[in-house]
Amino acid sequence: NSVVDGYLKDEQATLALGATVARHLPSGGVIYLLGDLGAGKTTFTRGLLNGLGHIGRVKSPTYTLVETYTPTPVLTLHHFDLYRFGDPMEWEDAGFRDYFGPDTLCIVEWPEKAAGALPPADLTLQLTVEGTGRHYCLTAGTPTGTACLRTIST
Ligand code: ADP
Ligand code: MG
Repeated sequence: NSVVDGYLKDEQATLALGATVARHLPSGGVIYLLGDLGAGKTTFTRGLLNGLGHIGRVKSPTYTLVETYTPTPVLTLHHFDLYRFGDPMEWEDAGFRDYFGPDTLCIVEWPEKAAGALPPADLTLQLTVEGTGRHYCLTAGTPTGTACLRTIST
């Protein structure tokens, strides 16, 4: 099945979803995070990074556009927040193309802002405010993503 969805009743649940995805993830790939400001995209990323073994802060890369982590000696994770991204030329100038590759994990908030420049997502997480919590929907965009979702849902 290529869709997994459910309800996250509080911040802990969003962190736990991140940790669950971390456990099933291949060491390279692209995850898009969709949802309004405050939906929980950075919270999910923090849960995922903690699940991979990262200890310490996870700050929102709102102004820097990207923060890079090495949660284990063999894994590089780039966390993008493209909310303030406007100029497609900047993508090339900053060398962001080189951030994506088989050996890096890229998590992208606001991928819509760089549509066309970004590689396709293996997984897309949509977060929507619902009551006091969040509804989430994970969809696969590639065979890698489908395989990942299959292990999450079983
Ligand atoms: P975004 O990166 O999408 O703008 P953040 O991850 O910064 O959003 O989260 C915004 C707020 O939402 C935080 O205060 C966080 O604690 C809260 N939050 C995250 N997940 C949930 C949830 N499932 N239910 C309620 N609040 C949540
Ligand atoms: Mg954020």
